[in-house]
Amino acid sequence: MKYISTRGATAHKTFSEVLLMGLAPDGGLMLPESYPQISGETLAQWRGLSYPELAFEIMSLFISDIPADDLRDIINRTYTAEVFGSADVTPVRTLSDGLKIQALSNGPTLAFKDMAMQFLGNMFEYVLDKEGKQLNILGATSGDTGSAAEYALRGKKGIHVFMLSPEGKMSAFQRAQMYSLQDDNIHNIAVKGMFDDCQDIVKAVQSDMSFKEQYHIGTVNSINWGRIVAQVVYYFAGYFRATENNEQKISFCVPSGNFGNVCAGHIARMMGLPIHRLIVATNENDVLDEFFKTGIYRPRTAEHTMVTSSPSMDISKASNFERFIFDVTERDADQIQVLWAEVAAGNGFDLSLSLEKIQAQYGFVSGKSLHTDRLQMIAEVYGTDHELIDPHTADGVKVAREVRQQDEVIVCLETALAAKFEDTIKEAVGDVNIPRPAALENLETLPQRVEVVPHNADIVKMIIRETLDK
Ligand SMILES: *Cc1c(COP(=O)(O)O)cnc(C)c1O
Repeated sequence: MKYISTRGATAHKTFSEVLLMGLAPDGGLMLPESYPQISGETLAQWRGLSYPELAFEIMSLFISDIPADDLRDIINRTYTAEVFGSADVTPVRTLSDGLKIQALSNGPTLAFKDMAMQFLGNMFEYVLDKEGKQLNILGATSGDTGSAAEYALRGKKGIHVFMLSPEGKMSAFQRAQMYSLQDDNIHNIAVKGMFDDCQDIVKAVQSDMSFKEQYHIGTVNSINWGRIVAQVVYYFAGYFRATENNEQKISFCVPSGNFGNVCAGHIARMMGLPIHRLIVATNENDVLDEFFKTGIYRPRTAEHTMVTSSPSMDISKASNFERFIFDVTERDADQIQVLWAEVAAGNGFDLSLSLEKIQAQYGFVSGKSLHTDRLQMIAEVYGTDHELIDPHTADGVKVAREVRQQDEVIVCLETALAAKFEDTIKEAVGDVNIPRPAALENLETLPQRVEVVPHNADIVKMIIRETLDK
């Protein structure tokens, strides 16, 4: 299996090459040259597999440049009951109103990003070791991504992580989660400023090409193909848990921001998984809801991106969206170049003529959930099912209930645990006891390790130099 760029001007690449890439050199995103097709017979054989067995079957269709035994070993070390809380890895449960919830949130940082990031960490270590390379991840985080990357890469050989976060802007839980890591290869840097200031520093360091090359600077952002391929697996797993036979069709409802999660659902559907609809749930930052209702894509500016109580969905443009639009245009790289030139110019684009196809052929539908909806869903589910769902999952439940058709089975992806967002939970249901995995009981009291710096890229470069030159 080879990989191509959505902009059409990058030579074909192997999985290992794509794994270590950010954007393609032509500015596009990498995708497999075709989607493997799963027959009914294969689907039937896969139904009884364990999560790691299923992951191997699916991922080996996309990863042909790594020996099967090595891939199997990496997957078996990644998707364990120890790391993800149960042998099921992504267990499915049913709420009293019939909605199904698939838990993607039982990894080390209690958010769905662990599902892909844990795999990426092991894969990075393997490929770097094989090629005798080093990789130093420089990233900016406002919460979930940074911690998922740190927990995936802690202690890994050949890798250092330099993670910038805005000083004092994350929740006490999120701070404790990141800053309490004591591994030698994890470096937390708190910047006096906002998240955007952290991102500016990352961009400034990355645009210094000689520094970037000398210190092997890379990223783990949501456009990494290795993350998408790992996410395809849980759509199959969820399908098998939520159905009795392969004649049944189900829908998935996905709390969405950068379109990474639901993009994997789209790929699973393109492979032949019997998915009826892919339901995109947004929060107040509704650029995707607008697109799936009108066909018009209108990315917002940073000033028009709202800070909400489902913060991991606070995006202004959906960085993985280009992968889906590539398929919508029948993989027309020239058209993608034209459309994204418009995006770069701050204009967006109009595909309203393709809207019917996007809805009928690709099964997409969308909805939006606001702060009050979120609180109401958390309270309702607590009232009827005596369980606490997190604010992002609540956005999904709200939209799923709104668009649900008669007899439609909908699996809502649970993208985080309530324990991560105590303030919003308490706003919704009052001062209740919010359950936490035992290992995190005393998280906030652990010693923390973080370096506070001014908003200055040169100081961050100096820290990287001093660490790596040692
Ligand atoms: C990242 C994240 C999302 C959004 O996922 P995308 O892949 O960006 O669409 C939703 N919920 C939680 C809890 C997240 O961490």
